[in-house]
Amino acid sequence: MIYLDFNASAPVSALVAAQVASAIAQGGNPSSVHAAGRTARGRVEVAREALATAVGCAARDLVFTSGGTEANALAIQGLPLPRVLASAVEHDCVLALADATIPVDGQGRVAPEALEAALKDGPALVCIMAANNETGVIQPLRELAPLVRAAGSLLHVDAVQALAKLPVEVAHADTMAFSAHKLGGPQGVGALYVRPGLTVAARQRGGGQELGRRAGTENVGGIVGFGAALRERAEDAEWTARVTALRDSLETALLEAGAQIIARDVPRLCNTIAVRMPGVAAATQVMALDLAGFAVSAGSACSSGKVKPSHVLRAMGCPDAVAGETIRVSLGWTTTEEEIASFVKAWRATLARLDPRF
Ligand code: PLP
Repeated sequence: MIYLDFNASAPVSALVAAQVASAIAQGGNPSSVHAAGRTARGRVEVAREALATAVGCAARDLVFTSGGTEANALAIQGLPLPRVLASAVEHDCVLALADATIPVDGQGRVAPEALEAALKDGPALVCIMAANNETGVIQPLRELAPLVRAAGSLLHVDAVQALAKLPVEVAHADTMAFSAHKLGGPQGVGALYVRPGLTVAARQRGGGQELGRRAGTENVGGIVGFGAALRERAEDAEWTARVTALRDSLETALLEAGAQIIARDVPRLCNTIAVRMPGVAAATQVMALDLAGFAVSAGSACSSGKVKPSHVLRAMGCPDAVAGETIRVSLGWTTTEEEIASFVKAWRATLARLDPRF
């Protein structure tokens, strides 16, 4: 199978898996004072340092969580603001906790005017993602963050898809969410950055883990894998340039074959393509490509099982026909030229079979 669904969950390398296995085999509770506990604590703190280095903050500003969903919820539910505003293209786990949405433009970006209008009614927690999971569109956070601050509001950034793919800067955010499995770490582990001086109320109470911000014994194996994956991505400094070139060549081939690329003209993640195959339902495309040996998805992964029209494309003003015929192809560090060439061939063959006009 050729895996082109990195944004849903990226493969874990043998090296990362070995480090996770070793941490699990070693055991020990990081809160225990004996040697086994201290070893486990050490492993957790090495991973915290790796993440702190990757995002430019102090290690103590990071809270490990069970993933991106929990990190988002910890910020949104834990910050004391009267309302939560979220861009209309946020992940469902953010939208589910929002009181109102901020519209995006036709390219999926929050315009400064739209943000200012939303902020008129008083202080709020504003949730704007760093990069979108379906289209890869990057939000202009540098431009938007000062507007949030000037309005006396706070900015939460979901950087789940951006970490390791883009230079992520916590400086713009009050809180920022991360997840390990989008960058080659295990599933079920993530983290929240909390700006120094800011307090998030714990959702889980009990033990004093994570400086009282998240009770519960840390997922040591998962956290070790998170750190290992971050180091692995950092050591392969060329991977984003390599993937950008592959992405560009894939887009050129798809466009030549009659495809439409969503938000092609704005800054996007190096690995993500939202592509419309005209005349063929996205679910049909995903199934046909699956049978041909390719893993891609329709809309976001969480909704692809349910196959509902993408709220992201709808928010961008795409007509239902476009939203219903768009799939996501997301590449990664292991993607090769040969895989892209076979995908183009399969995509063309699928189109020829499913759309009588071709
Ligand atoms: N935010 C974004 C942008 C995502 O793409 C995802 C995963 O699909 C999440 C949050 C949820 O992360 P997790 O699966 O780690 O809970």
